[in-house]
Amino acid sequence: MTNNEIEKKWQKKWADAKLFQSDPNEKEKLFLTVAYPYPSGAMHIGHGRTYTVPDVFARFKRMEGYNVLFPMAWHVTGAPVIGIADRIKRKDPWTLDLYERVHKVPHDTLPSLEDPINIVKYFSNEYHTVMDDMGYSIDWRREFRTIDPTYKKFITWQAKKLKSLGLIKQGEHPVKYCPHDENPVGDHDLLEGEGVGVNELTLIKFEVEPGLYIVPATFRPETIFAATNVWLNPEVHYIEVEVKTGANAREKWIISNEAFLNLSNQHDLEIVGDIDPKPLIGKYVKNPLNGEPLPIFPASFVDPEYGSGTVFSVPAHAPADYIALRDLKENEELIKDFDIKEEVAKAEPLNVVTVEGYGEFPAVEVVERMGIENQNDPKVQDATDELYKAEHSKGYISDHIEKYAGKRVAFIRDEIKADMIEAGSADIMYDFAERPVICRCGNKCVVKVMDDQWFIRYGDEEWTEKTQKVLAQETIIPEEIRSNFEYYLDWLDDWACSRRVGLGTRVPWDDQWLIEPLSDSTMYMSYYTIAKYLKDMDPEDLNEAFFEKVFLGVDSDEITVPEETVNQIQEEFNYWYPLDWRLSAKDLVGNHLSFLMFTHAAIYPEEKWPKGTVVFGMGLLEGNKMSSSKGNVILLADAIEQYSADVVRLFLMASAEPWQDFDWREKEVRGTQRRLEWFREFAQKVEDIKGEKLDLSNIEEVPLERSIDKWMINQLNIHIKEATEALEVFQTRQALQHALFLLKKDLDHYLYRVQDLIEAKDPAVIYVLSTLLSNWIRLLAPFTPHTSEELWSKYGGEGFVSFAKWPEYNEDLISKEIERSESLVQNIVKDINEIKNIVDTDPEKIHLYLAPEWKWELYKIADEVGKPDIGQIMGKAIKADIYDNKKEIANVAKRISKEMIKTRYIGKIDEETILNDAKDFIESEVGSEIVIHTDDSYDPQNKARNAMPYKPAIFME
Ligand SMILES: [Zn+2]
Repeated sequence: MTNNEIEKKWQKKWADAKLFQSDPNEKEKLFLTVAYPYPSGAMHIGHGRTYTVPDVFARFKRMEGYNVLFPMAWHVTGAPVIGIADRIKRKDPWTLDLYERVHKVPHDTLPSLEDPINIVKYFSNEYHTVMDDMGYSIDWRREFRTIDPTYKKFITWQAKKLKSLGLIKQGEHPVKYCPHDENPVGDHDLLEGEGVGVNELTLIKFEVEPGLYIVPATFRPETIFAATNVWLNPEVHYIEVEVKTGANAREKWIISNEAFLNLSNQHDLEIVGDIDPKPLIGKYVKNPLNGEPLPIFPASFVDPEYGSGTVFSVPAHAPADYIALRDLKENEELIKDFDIKEEVAKAEPLNVVTVEGYGEFPAVEVVERMGIENQNDPKVQDATDELYKAEHSKGYISDHIEKYAGKRVAFIRDEIKADMIEAGSADIMYDFAERPVICRCGNKCVVKVMDDQWFIRYGDEEWTEKTQKVLAQETIIPEEIRSNFEYYLDWLDDWACSRRVGLGTRVPWDDQWLIEPLSDSTMYMSYYTIAKYLKDMDPEDLNEAFFEKVFLGVDSDEITVPEETVNQIQEEFNYWYPLDWRLSAKDLVGNHLSFLMFTHAAIYPEEKWPKGTVVFGMGLLEGNKMSSSKGNVILLADAIEQYSADVVRLFLMASAEPWQDFDWREKEVRGTQRRLEWFREFAQKVEDIKGEKLDLSNIEEVPLERSIDKWMINQLNIHIKEATEALEVFQTRQALQHALFLLKKDLDHYLYRVQDLIEAKDPAVIYVLSTLLSNWIRLLAPFTPHTSEELWSKYGGEGFVSFAKWPEYNEDLISKEIERSESLVQNIVKDINEIKNIVDTDPEKIHLYLAPEWKWELYKIADEVGKPDIGQIMGKAIKADIYDNKKEIANVAKRISKEMIKTRYIGKIDEETILNDAKDFIESEVGSEIVIHTDDSYDPQNKARNAMPYKPAIFME
């Protein structure tokens, strides 16, 4: 049987035995979930890590005796599959290639994916198969898709519940929007620009002629007081637009052609015609604050994509403006072309903000200090960042601006903006903080102001406060992520929760809208607990009264499901809830994982709040970020076929902790493969040594006399302890360091030490090796379940290893003395061989002198003193009367003071017995006869006095 066949065999046995179907019982329960996948493509090894971590933990906890529920479902809500189906229909070559070559959809199947439902079905089936192939211990009875009618009933209840609590409202809001799809987009719908924020800018109107305005947008409306001119880029395509409705109705604005797409989604605009910027340059506009004329100048740095594609210049406070002005003053040709000599000569920086550490014209200072050459120098951005930050955080409006003098910039900004809007000289515009922002359909996104959008009010103060309490009672792994959660819970504001296009549940009270994917996935952990019942039920019975009863215990006449059934379903929910662990990727901290906390805070009482969250890192492929759309992925199915599921699992769990980024490197995967092969061979070797069939459930106990045997058992106990403690907190890598790598290192040492005994079939060695193997198979079972099952059944383990008892460590069998005894032997061998090398001799006999009792007592005293304080050590030693030669005590005390830093006192060990036990080994390692002395009756070279605790003296003869 190949390893793949063996894995299939065990998967079938598990399924046949319904091993992972978990129902309430008398055991302590453990409920963990991992973010359900959005199956719009094939599963790759990055997903493999995400879903292996919870499986390892579930398997570990089952072996510890918990009743574990690990369910899985498919998140198919949203617009992405609509776009994919669309592109497949249009025979878009890039998409067809992606799905045929990267996602490996059979050629004949591809046309069926023109229907988004088929995409979802195809890939959720594919995911299910691959998860089975990975050996995941999932309770599949609870599987569902988020478009199932029963799930929609659940989401309907949840949405109505939040609305009844006043946590959903309708309003006007800027949203990221795809004009092509005519749909708001979330980060999940983006090809590029994930996480890019939306900024609110002030659009300031500079009158060119009555009714016609140039409308630059700014972050810093206060700088209008220091405006010196307006910039247009002569190379940009400008247009004139008319505002059709609203406060600015009938005004005409000059904006860039590129800005129209964005701005027209925020204001009701109609294009009037093209505008040639060149004739405008040299003309004047009016500063809306005071009516003063400001000239229009040319500048190449003006970005047509940003804001309205025009800029007003504040050379004292904006580095780019200062440099552009400086460039212009030096550009005689340009000045001549536009005939603006006089105007340019007059243009000088004006101050508005006073900021500590800078003079009157901060931008001038920063530009000169950084040595910026011209407006295309990349350092312009650094200068801008520095100054904007400084002015925002510690700037004041200067004294000569009477109305706002002395006010902090950070606080007065909104007031100045409001005043200008009130006066009709400004308005709001929204823009992305960064570009590009590209929809999955390939089109540029814009910021659209929608007025019929539904919002979840994550900004609500009271709700936020309650949610902080949810967070406070949770265990967060890794703990340093907690502050990110604290930040996001506070920072989150109204969340647009409805979409026009996509799959999912309709907003129950406004069915032109669908609930978007990050809003229908905040509470489905509850749904898992009851999904197996709902499968066979009529969705019509799943009314709000039903869910109120099941989840909140509210009785009602409107429940149509038989009472007994409802009660059973409710009991099952109450058994599994609260959720013990939620696992998810780190890019979901600021949305999904926070939303989950919010929703639980709003709907559930405290005893149903989630108990723990684990946040994952990302996957790399040979050092580069994995990305299906860039083709830089290895499909999980291919990796399983090539290496077997257990090798893939073992590699993914051993190469990094879950929250660290991991890197899939072929060479290292092959190393893992060899390691697992070695383990199988080792198991067989133990049986070969025994010379008859191994029976791991009936290991014949042999009392251990030799310290090397005790040492091996000691090391086993240490590694079980360390692996267990690491797994309890999801440290899979640390756990495997002990459960595999360090344990193997110790075993290698043991096998080397007992090689002669192995040949003699020594019963103690056979006992040690059998015990080791029995524990080891179980230690690895969560990581390599198929291999462990196979070895467990082959060598006499009872039942499935998946439910075998997790190895227990015996603290009594963990002893520093045993560890020290083995290092005593190792150090003796090492020291002797070193001396032999230095003096180049081949002695017949080697004498070892052991430290006398009084030196042990002195070591103990030195340890109690705890520092190399010879006086204090001497004082105590003399008082305790450990030895009568004070000078000798002083000599040894000095040496001990140095030794004890390297070798801590752990109590006296029986060096004589240890070395006698290991005598054959030491003799064969050093090639000479060993004689052990406990006194100096034979000491021709007076070496015995050098003997120290843990470090016998050596004399070669
Ligand atoms: Zn789109």
